[in-house]
Amino acid sequence: MTARDLLARLAPLYPSEGWWPSASPFETAIGAILVQGVAWRGAANAVAGLRDAGLLSAAALAAADPSQISEAIRPALYHHQKSGYLRSFATFALSIGAVERLAGMPPKQQMEALLGVRGIGPETAQAIIVYALGGAEPVVDAYARRLFVRTGASPNSTPAAVEEAMRTAIGVDPARARALHAAVVEHARTVCRRAPRCSACPLAMGCPKTLGETGVGRGWRVVSRAGSAAEEGEAGDG
Ligand code: SF4
Repeated sequence: MTARDLLARLAPLYPSEGWWPSASPFETAIGAILVQGVAWRGAANAVAGLRDAGLLSAAALAAADPSQISEAIRPALYHHQKSGYLRSFATFALSIGAVERLAGMPPKQQMEALLGVRGIGPETAQAIIVYALGGAEPVVDAYARRLFVRTGASPNSTPAAVEEAMRTAIGVDPARARALHAAVVEHARTVCRRAPRCSACPLAMGCPKTLGETGVGRGWRVVSRAGSAAEEGEAGDG
């Protein structure tokens, strides 16, 4: 199943409109950092904590005491570490004037600039480019890798290979980037979970796993058709 197939079949089921709610590009970027390793609910609560503490701006974060930030973002887990990441990002945003300034740059430069900030890796940078800057980047997260491998990509697919496959479906269309990411995440979170719910899956027709193939990717084991085996996934569900 190609990335185009996934987009065509899943996007109508999981609308991307309003899927990543935020009041500003800066808040979106903060959310992308906070959601690392935690469910969205935790990140959203941490953003609310920053807002309540008056820390939801680059100037306020850069000037704040790290312990004050840690306390505000406690629901996002790893809060001491993320406190440092937020201060680094705030300092970066102030150094260029505002995160929106990146929007006029070519994607490669956007990526390089974001990867230069402590705590921002490729997945977080891609999410910032798509949701804060309106770019057309693939967001290659653990959900995407899991779904692509299960629906036919090689079990040895690297993140770069998954990114390339997603890029063929997205082209240069930011709306398609948002639609593909939202659809992949929602489907992997609710149906193609660590323990996949193949019997309820709209992709079952044509999915190699449902057809009984046993090629699996790193980080998970096959659940038998009878559902008797457990599996351990790379991505959290929920
Ligand atoms: S049929 Fe099963 S393995 Fe394939 S996409 Fe659906 S839930 Fe995932």
